[in-house]
Amino acid sequence: MSDSIFEKIIKRQIPADIVFENDDIIAFRDISPQAPVHVLFVPKRRFDTLNDVPDNEALLLGNLLLAAQAYAKSIGIAENGYRLVMNCNSHGGQTVFHIHMHLLGGAPLTGGFA
Ligand code: 5GP
Repeated sequence: MSDSIFEKIIKRQIPADIVFENDDIIAFRDISPQAPVHVLFVPKRRFDTLNDVPDNEALLLGNLLLAAQAYAKSIGIAENGYRLVMNCNSHGGQTVFHIHMHLLGGAPLTGGFA
């Protein structure tokens, strides 16, 4: 299987504005931001969609949420609030098939986000 665009970012083969990284997770600014803060939290190990994540990866999914929560606190948007989104497959609007969670915030969010 060829690398996803996010695997290329993880391997530093293409540039990204990385804001957080640990052994399991990387986070970088979305190239096409839909809010003043729009960061993608991505497990380094690839699962194409949320449907592909097995039961024994609950810790990884939990850590993805907690990484976003900690980042939101660190940049001062947590108190006002933010939105976390994970799109799955075509009806969910997923375009990159390497699971990722969108953190959106920095202003009141109106309407839907796909
Ligand atoms: P999805 O629609 O799959 O939930 O979200 C994919 C997101 O990845 C989109 O918001 C899109 O703007 C972002 N994206 C796609 N390619 C790149 C890229 O090369 N670099 C960065 N930083 N974001 C990307």
